Amino acid sequence: MIEPNPTERGRPFWDGAADGELRVQVCTDCRQARLPAALRCGRCRSPHSTWEAIEPVGTVLAITTVRRPGHPALADAVPYRTSVVSLGESCHVPMLVAQDAPEDVAVGSRVAIGFLPVTDEQRIPVVRGHASPAHGDEEG
Ligand SMILES: [Zn+2]
Repeated sequence: MIEPNPTERGRPFWDGAADGELRVQVCTDCRQARLPAALRCGRCRSPHSTWEAIEPVGTVLAITTVRRPGHPALADAVPYRTSVVSLGESCHVPMLVAQDAPEDVAVGSRVAIGFLPVTDEQRIPVVRGHASPAHGDEEG
């Protein structure tokens, strides 16, 4: 399995995943959230930011089935699905789709995000399946 190899800038995201939390970088000046992590806010250009845990739900922006592994560690996993999930404006994250996620998870699906262990200490965020209706669909 692939182990994350985080940069210092992205480390809080992976530390959060290891703790079962979905963390995003948030501008301390205008409150815009962003992922991947960046030195400056894309909205106000502020260099000041913090990290905050958010509810582990998102919306699928893209999804595809991989039949030729993109990494040797995934050779035994093919075919598998991978996706890009929006966690909100300026937060777009590539994520594997869990092997047992429903087949009808598709572009536009509101999904729940879980954490798949890849080592004793590290977990990666994955699409688990449809978000429960209890979470609502506040983004319309
Ligand atoms: Zn800002």
